[in-house]
Amino acid sequence: MAELQLTDIKKSYGATTIIHGIDLAIDDGEFVVFVGPSGCGKSTLLRIIAGLETVSGGDIRIDGKSVTNVPASDRGLAMVFQSYALYPHMSVYKNMAFALENMGLGQPEIDQRVRRAAQMLRLTDYLDRKPKALSGGQRQRVAIGRAIVRDPKIFLFDEPLSNLDAELRVATRKELAALHGEIGGTMIYVTHDQVEAMTLADRIVVLHSGRIEQIGTPLEVYNHP
Ligand code: ADP
Ligand code: ADP
Repeated sequence: MAELQLTDIKKSYGATTIIHGIDLAIDDGEFVVFVGPSGCGKSTLLRIIAGLETVSGGDIRIDGKSVTNVPASDRGLAMVFQSYALYPHMSVYKNMAFALENMGLGQPEIDQRVRRAAQMLRLTDYLDRKPKALSGGQRQRVAIGRAIVRDPKIFLFDEPLSNLDAELRVATRKELAALHGEIGGTMIYVTHDQVEAMTLADRIVVLHSGRIEQIGTPLEVYNHP
């Protein structure tokens, strides 16, 4: 778990500025959801936090330490993409174990982490399957499991439910809420779905044209526009 502080974060592509000096502090264990119209900069801001995009200005701190110039792999974060980012030729087990092998962890530690995540996500019976032999919801749980096993300080979610049909979206959303209750990690979540934002967020950050338009609890944001 960790707290995150963004100070005057800016991003430009050539002459076009798409993030205009964002200040934001996220508490340890908080679930924060970024919402806003398509193109407002939600994904870019998330990718900046992840270290997948450089900034044009400003500072990113995790637990008080600047990570602005720290590579993505050393920030202690884990990003959950849509489930199509699974490795199709690897088993569920291997999909979750792979990054840990690259981190140089020993097999007993890897096995313990993978099994704990699998149990949490009800994937224990599916560890030997390839992604194509799973349902959409199971695949998305593997994508989440890949993040959990890394034991990250902060979880980042980029529209993780957008590939799922309506019913699975509801089910997976509830699992995410339960997961946050269980592991209590700091979570930052991008969506354009108001229901997801309202049901998951401790706080909602409404972005518009690369600026923060509003910040508040779901009640504050959706009852007092
Ligand atoms: P959102 O996630 O809110 O839909 P994005 O963060 O994806 O918005 O994009 C914000 C803006 O930045 C958009 O106008 C988009 O066209 C622009 N943008 C994103 N990536 C690039 C890029 N690599 N080069 C130029 N413009 C980009
Ligand atoms: P590859 O396809 O690259 O050979 P494997 O599927 O054989 O990878 O798995 C690599 C490692 O993960 C092995 O050390 C194996 O012990 C472990 N492993 C894979 N699947 C499981 C499983 N279901 N239960 C326990 N360990 C597993």
